[in-house]
Amino acid sequence: MNWELLIDLHKSNDRQGPGSEEQTKMAITLSGLSCASEILQVADIGCGTGASTLVLAENLNANITAVDLFPEFLSVLTANAEKQGLADKIRTLACSMDDLPFEEGSLDAIWAEGAVYNMGFKKSVTYFKRFLKPGGILAASEITWLTQSRPDEIRSYWDNEYPEIATAADKIRVLEEQGFILKGYFPLPVSCWIDNYYDPLRSGFDAFLAKHDTEEAKEVIDAETNEITLYEKYRNYYSYGFYIARKS
Ligand code: SAH
Repeated sequence: MNWELLIDLHKSNDRQGPGSEEQTKMAITLSGLSCASEILQVADIGCGTGASTLVLAENLNANITAVDLFPEFLSVLTANAEKQGLADKIRTLACSMDDLPFEEGSLDAIWAEGAVYNMGFKKSVTYFKRFLKPGGILAASEITWLTQSRPDEIRSYWDNEYPEIATAADKIRVLEEQGFILKGYFPLPVSCWIDNYYDPLRSGFDAFLAKHDTEEAKEVIDAETNEITLYEKYRNYYSYGFYIARKS
């Protein structure tokens, strides 16, 4: 995986995965976090350039730690937070999601949109739980099958890309096995993929290839194009599911 190419392709977009301000707000509503009387301690894990972080900062009375592996994404977030007058609510932290520096039982909420696949859903849920206070919220969006059966082409693509893809019932079972109580689930609508993620991404392909005239860069674009083509063909079969759960 050539991270530098991927960072360069993705960092000028508002988001690095499917989602929207509206869906983040819906998850905030389902979480009940807005009712808190004290300043909340929140971590946004795998935040990228901070599409969700900024919505959280705008809508919650919170100190937010925005975590991503890549400082290049975090610099964009810092600049945007300053522009929007939200910088005093957000601190950034470049580190890996499987090696977090938080104290056990110290967080009111862990947010993670389109990012837990990097570590795997079950492993993330198990690992993140320790950092939450009792009653703390885990809100994560995760690739999810929407139907009980699916065509071979898309099944084998995802089995290869991310074998932990499963139905919402399976994901909810993982949460319940780890002692979480589900507060809400909804799948992201098509607009979150096409309008907010794939369209801006593909509008940058030509400039990216003009800048990086290499075989490796072409392979990156071919892989993204293949992912988009498959989504357009099979979008009724999968989406990101947003899971909002409370640590019991
Ligand atoms: N939440 C953002 C980004 C989703 S893309 C959004 O919805 O737009 C996944 C993000 O995970 C990327 O920003 C990537 O840099 C980050 N990432 C990948 N591996 C990681 C790791 N091991 N630890 C922390 N972040 C990681």
